[in-house]
Amino acid sequence: MALIVQKYGGTSVGDVDRIRNVAERVIRYRQQGHDMVVVLSAMSGETNRLIALAKAVNPEPDLRELDMLLNTGEQTTIALLAMMLKSKGCDALSFTGAQVQILTDNAHGKARILNITGERIRSEMAQGRVIVVAGFQGVDAQGNLTTLGRGGSDTTAVALAAALGADECQIYTDVDGVYTTDPRVVPEARRLDRITFEEMLEMASLGSKVLQIRSVEFAGKYNVPLRVLSSFEEGEGTLITYEEDGVEEPLISGIAFNRDEAKVTVSGVPDQPGIASQILGPVSAANIEVDMIVQNIGEDGTTDLTFTVHRNDHDKVMGIVNAVAKTINAKDVKGDRKIVKISLVGVGMRSHAGIASKMFRVLAEEGINIRMISTSEIKISVVVDEKYLELGVRALHTAFELDEGVNIN
Ligand code: ADP
Ligand code: ASP
Ligand code: MG
Repeated sequence: MALIVQKYGGTSVGDVDRIRNVAERVIRYRQQGHDMVVVLSAMSGETNRLIALAKAVNPEPDLRELDMLLNTGEQTTIALLAMMLKSKGCDALSFTGAQVQILTDNAHGKARILNITGERIRSEMAQGRVIVVAGFQGVDAQGNLTTLGRGGSDTTAVALAAALGADECQIYTDVDGVYTTDPRVVPEARRLDRITFEEMLEMASLGSKVLQIRSVEFAGKYNVPLRVLSSFEEGEGTLITYEEDGVEEPLISGIAFNRDEAKVTVSGVPDQPGIASQILGPVSAANIEVDMIVQNIGEDGTTDLTFTVHRNDHDKVMGIVNAVAKTINAKDVKGDRKIVKISLVGVGMRSHAGIASKMFRVLAEEGINIRMISTSEIKISVVVDEKYLELGVRALHTAFELDEGVNIN
């Protein structure tokens, strides 16, 4: 007998039949004697629908009230599942994030979980009840409702699993595990039996939305056994694990990509101390996150600075940088929203040279121009034109022998 936290994403609770399917699985686990905590997302499309409603009122809706609205999405599904469980004779209770005291900071729309007491959950579970909790939401110290950022139900599940000392946290979704790359873009993508926390964290932060980044951070930090599985078919899914001594890690575990990027280039900047901070200071002061930064070596006393930001921030950044450019006498500012980032991820890269040059060669052979490059110990990222995304990812997937049917172990 174990304590298991299961999380079901939007498509897995998309209609009443699917909620019934969830109830049946929960009951099967319960019948095996396990204690069950079930975290649900809103029905697929619902969070987007609510955001669109808010934007119809005001294109930049008040963030506290937006969170109030978004909290309703998950409240619907938890109530429906608890009803379904009870109608099948399985004792259950649904709770909002606030009701089970998922305490967060007050950063509306991207709140961080600070503490979960878990008392109510434990006492109800001790009475033999299945606990159904709304994902993606919490409450701040003043009692305001908050949300944890898109995809945040993953983080609710992992945080609850950590707080309750669960034996396993199972993330049920519409694919049967973590793949070498998004199987919707590369049909040859291969399911991984396991992937390390470190790699999963890189994959998530480089654009693979199968797990929210913070959920992987939490799981690694609190040692939560985490598994991604399909809610539509049986299978082992993918286990997220620590690196094990003696287990040879694959060179490349996966390819992540991010379509949400835009780049800004400031050219003809006087090459002198303090310029990067003069340009990027106001950007970060406006709370805009900068991702990659490249500065060229100056020649005639001037230099170029290029950096990337989220595509949604492109116009705002252009406004800020154009203003700065005048004060520092830069020659030109150019923006480009039609770029994407493609990244190779693998802990095996640490001990191997030559991966970057192979990556560049493969892209060159496809006629794909690389606009920016950034590397770390376990990943290499390149920025390329948006139109080359599919071609680039597929070519790399094949060249690094990740395609289905190729056995690299
Ligand atoms: P849920 O609503 O269940 O949380 P998400 O849409 O958030 O589901 O995440 C699942 C989706 O993640 C898949 O449908 C898939 O398209 C996408 N995805 C991106 N990269 C990967 C990957 N490497 N492996 C598996 N799925 C991926
Ligand atoms: N419903 C929220 C979203 O669509 C949270 C989640 O599904 O994890 O982002
Ligand atoms: Mg998700």
